Amino acid sequence: MNLFRTKNNVITYTVNKIANRDLYISIQNGEVVINAPWYTTDKQIQRIVEEKKQWIIEKRKEYEKNCQRKKDLYKNRTVKLLGKIYNLEIIYQDKNAPLLNIEKKNIEVILPAIYKKMEKQEIISMLLEKMYHMVAKKEMENMLEEIRIMTGLAPEEIEFIKSDKILAKCENNIIYINEKMMMYSPETIRYILLHEFCHLRYKNHTKSFYQMIETYMPQYKEYVDEIGNWQY
Ligand SMILES: [Zn+2]
Repeated sequence: MNLFRTKNNVITYTVNKIANRDLYISIQNGEVVINAPWYTTDKQIQRIVEEKKQWIIEKRKEYEKNCQRKKDLYKNRTVKLLGKIYNLEIIYQDKNAPLLNIEKKNIEVILPAIYKKMEKQEIISMLLEKMYHMVAKKEMENMLEEIRIMTGLAPEEIEFIKSDKILAKCENNIIYINEKMMMYSPETIRYILLHEFCHLRYKNHTKSFYQMIETYMPQYKEYVDEIGNWQY
């Protein structure tokens, strides 16, 4: 098999010279591939490409459209982490286990190629959960300590919950934390934690409760809007 590439105006194509075959043009993964008998000259091939130009251009457009459609599935997927918005990119590689990379603007989810045909939503959620857990481990300890000293209050226990509704709660002197709160900026996370510490003194969202928060964090209302519908 003889293989080479030539530029013909804008069309790049690969030629496979195979014995005993008719001349045949196809588009493979967006590339023009020409199978030609071994005796075909470059000139003959260029003439064929020229003749088929319109067809090639249309086929390639079709291919690009399909690629775009696949990309669009994840195009608008973003992930929030510590108040910053990242684009979520799914990359397939020959790896044994999924990986996650945090870049400047992107969060790359690297999946083993065997996952290509599988439902990805679950595995992506799992990886993001892991990411929030690692960030929480790093970010939260100092904040909790700082709030403990500031308020002079301490929960009996800090526990973790997984939920799509509850961001944090305080029950029977135990503070429950959903690590998804790592999506918010450190200031907002600090507010949520302070909020729960204040619940150690006031069970309900009374005026006194909010007055207590205000004592330690006069600007707390800035963070309330950002949190939206979550329960805490
Ligand atoms: Zn509350």
